[in-house]
Amino acid sequence: MPPRKKQQIPYTVLIVEDELAIAENLLLALESEGFSACVARNATVAFERLGHEPYDLVLLDIGLPGMDGYGLLKQMREELQLTIPVLVLTARSTLEDKALGFSSGADDYLVKPFALEEMLMRSKALIRRSRQLSDTAFVLDYGPLRYVVAEQVITVDGREIKLTRKNLMILELLMRYDGRVVPRRRLEEYLWQGEPPSADALRSQVHLLRKALSGHGFDGIETVHSIGWRLAPNTTKS
Ligand code: CA
Repeated sequence: MPPRKKQQIPYTVLIVEDELAIAENLLLALESEGFSACVARNATVAFERLGHEPYDLVLLDIGLPGMDGYGLLKQMREELQLTIPVLVLTARSTLEDKALGFSSGADDYLVKPFALEEMLMRSKALIRRSRQLSDTAFVLDYGPLRYVVAEQVITVDGREIKLTRKNLMILELLMRYDGRVVPRRRLEEYLWQGEPPSADALRSQVHLLRKALSGHGFDGIETVHSIGWRLAPNTTKS
């Protein structure tokens, strides 16, 4: 048997920033480092995305139109009960501001203007820290499927199954959505930064994944017409 190649799955980052130029700079810097990132330009959109999609890190601007970043942070921690790391980006730099940020649930703080390199360094450190805290226990279960995130190993009823990197990424996202529909666009963002090599690329990947799982007795990937895919609800009880 060939030695296992460690498959690298990109971490996903939500950028909450209303200034388009800043948002784009952050997005490009993160993508150039292999992250999968997307932008929400106000707290309402960000809250909606956070409630539906799993992220590894949030970059949060404080000065937003409507609800500000502190408000969103509180909602994230209290209503959504999210523990993912949050790096606050702000023009305000007084001690009171920092204190307010940390007491609202921020993990780290960057004062504008900042160097993109520093943002990347801190982002990586925050993700690494949160993964170290959760990795040993970080296992996704769905019916007969089990994904041990730290080792990137998938088993079906306890038997390990070899998947390609892209297939592993699709299945990881399906499992993290826990039976909810994963939109096609979200998958294309995750796999190819929103630019799939062909219109049919995703469909072909899902086809391969289904075939691989089917060979292990699992047929629980459902197509939700013109929207995306999900894990079938009735597979949760094995
Ligand atoms: Ca702003």
